Amino acid sequence: MPNPSLEPEILISRLSHRPRHLLKAMITVTSPPKSTDSKLADRVWTDRGSSLGILDRLPPEIVSILLGMLDTQSIARFACLSSRANTFVRSQRAYRDLATLVPQVLLALGRVGLIGLHSVAELHAALRTERCATCIEYGAFLFLPTCERCCWECLRLNPSLRVLSRKEAKRYFGLSDRHLQRLPTLRVIPGDYGISANPAPEHCELISVKAARGLGLIVHGSAGKLAQAMARRCKSTGLFVTGRYLQGGWPAVSQDQDLLLLPSQGNIPTDDFFGMASIPFPSLSKSGRIEDGLWCLGCEVTLRRYDSLRLPRDVLAAIVPSNCGPLRVLLGLERRARSKESFLDHVKHCYGAQQLIPELATGNG
Ligand SMILES: [Zn+2]
Ligand SMILES: [Zn+2]
Repeated sequence: MPNPSLEPEILISRLSHRPRHLLKAMITVTSPPKSTDSKLADRVWTDRGSSLGILDRLPPEIVSILLGMLDTQSIARFACLSSRANTFVRSQRAYRDLATLVPQVLLALGRVGLIGLHSVAELHAALRTERCATCIEYGAFLFLPTCERCCWECLRLNPSLRVLSRKEAKRYFGLSDRHLQRLPTLRVIPGDYGISANPAPEHCELISVKAARGLGLIVHGSAGKLAQAMARRCKSTGLFVTGRYLQGGWPAVSQDQDLLLLPSQGNIPTDDFFGMASIPFPSLSKSGRIEDGLWCLGCEVTLRRYDSLRLPRDVLAAIVPSNCGPLRVLLGLERRARSKESFLDHVKHCYGAQQLIPELATGNG
């Protein structure tokens, strides 16, 4: 007879959590105002016979593609033009999903000044993926400057998922103030960020490393010349090491490689702006199920046992490859979010989960 304590929903309720210290390390938009979608629904239209204007000459599928290319603010403005435009916009699945499922993300994009940067189609595509854009894991966050879904580990390690001050962008990518005018700027929302809840600097404006690197390559013509421009501006070892890291890009990860289990990437320069450009971001599956990511309480138990020297050696050896630092790996696992499917698969093999629910070890109890 199947053991009821091993039912998926029971396992999820007993073994998963949403760690506040990680979620609060990023942009938090607490009570989003009524979604744009419901505002549209409330509006009283008097011009019921109105049209889409010149767009009426196009087939609805083409109008739909064109609307998908607009950003969410422009599409909301379009919806205000007439009752027909309003009905048309509300019939667009991509826009409706964004406005009803992630209004806090749209609000955050507006508050940081990047609402016009990504189209509805791009944001919807990100909503409908689960995987981190730069590794194989579930991505529980959205990096606002590039509209990429990402995981905690990549946010921490991947230079493309970082933001810089204007001064740093100029220094590390050989750019001038005039160059920077061509790049989108993120206005930091006041608040506390990062694991240690550091307050954001006042009136802080940031630029994405990816955009600065892209422009640096255009301005200087090649990766080699870009590196030389950086070296001329970074005379001290510390600055040079940071510049090399920021320009270095990201190693391509193969389909089955777990970043955490690769040997350490060396010293990663501190990210003073961690969390200021990212936000928790649910995912929408093909079947229409929304997921927020599940974090494993078992992995927290494993980390605590390691910290207090109570983790058996053979268990540690089974989790952490010999060429990796145990603390980095165990901390990374504790901070890893998973999709429901991957979570249920993970807890079958998680040492800490088996300590919390011993029946998991035998599979039947
Ligand atoms: Zn990742
Ligand atoms: Zn676990």
